[in-house]
Amino acid sequence: MSTLSTLLAQTQWTDEERRYLLSLTKPEDVEALRARAFSVTTETMGPNVYLRGLIEISNLCTANCRYCGIRKSNHEVERYTLSQDQILACALEAHRLGYGSIAIQAGERRDEKWVRFIEDVLKAIHAATQDEAHPHGLGITLSLGEQTLEVYERWAAAAGNPEGLRYLLRIESSNPTLFNALHSTPGKYEKVLEHRYRALQDLRRAGYQVGTGVMIGLPNQTLDDLVHDLRTFETIDADMIGMGPYITSHGGDMVEEGMMAHDPLLQRTLNMIAVTRLVLTGANIAAATALETLEPGGRLKGITYGCNVVMPNITPQLTRTSYQLYDNKSGTEVGSEANRAIEAAINAIPGRQLGLFTLGSAKRWCARQG
Ligand code: SAM
Repeated sequence: MSTLSTLLAQTQWTDEERRYLLSLTKPEDVEALRARAFSVTTETMGPNVYLRGLIEISNLCTANCRYCGIRKSNHEVERYTLSQDQILACALEAHRLGYGSIAIQAGERRDEKWVRFIEDVLKAIHAATQDEAHPHGLGITLSLGEQTLEVYERWAAAAGNPEGLRYLLRIESSNPTLFNALHSTPGKYEKVLEHRYRALQDLRRAGYQVGTGVMIGLPNQTLDDLVHDLRTFETIDADMIGMGPYITSHGGDMVEEGMMAHDPLLQRTLNMIAVTRLVLTGANIAAATALETLEPGGRLKGITYGCNVVMPNITPQLTRTSYQLYDNKSGTEVGSEANRAIEAAINAIPGRQLGLFTLGSAKRWCARQG
């Protein structure tokens, strides 16, 4: 195989080369990978880091994903759903702060009452955030799980902002055996990987910027799995990537399987971010809350490895502790001062600045739109 410096100067990599880049651990090698990913980000995406105000609108969930603390079978969780007024207040706060977009996330529900509630929320946000400076209103990223094409279309129409319409649906892992293991309960598979791929195609058809991602460091996940995940991101032609480390959840059903040790998990996650940036140059890549949970300041590290999106949590304080996807989730006990701190810290990264009052759409999506 070529030397690392030759590899990093390439624009295409074999699976073997990708695997090697993901496996780097020596400080000077890791630094070379990080520096290359950072400069590719600057060249292709510019200096802006975009903020999406994250609103965790409900922890009600009909699914039983084994890794997740808000899974249906976890009866320890106090369930909540924010009212339309509460969600609108969060959206207006994001708008006031100059965040170009919000991200609306919840457990998975498919009943008509829920679908209509989301429609109403989206219409209200659109009506309240259109002004001269924002003719399209706030950008919206939805993360509400697998739905039908018809539902995706209804929500797209309600959002009223085709320029800033996005959906994040992680595949969690592209290895079908691992995916099944993560989503099985005795007697049935909760989820089917093929359905997720279909949902991602439906999202594209319905006009969304399509986001996906995986968890890194899952029990039994190999580097070859991550290489395959990268190929799958390319096949999906993802506009956005949201991925982070797998962290044990005592509300989940995988505690006995453990999790990777801190240092190797952190480096593997950062390497995966960097290699994703190299192969999907024009994608928006988010620095996940799970990365911050694993390592305080982890999101800032993620930015130096190629992330260009951060999702500050703007959910009302009252319900944050009930959206505990994994143990010790970062940001549940802190107020808005934590968001001001990360905003200041982003501006302090040499070569990076906050991208405010703009939608910050993925370059891949813009290029596809012509
Ligand atoms: N229900 C929607 C869905 O399934 O796409 C959105 C909410 S779901 C809780 C959001 C993401 O949280 C999942 O895609 C998963 O990758 C992540 N997540 C859940 N449990 C996790 C864990 N234990 N460690 C790391 N990430 C986790």
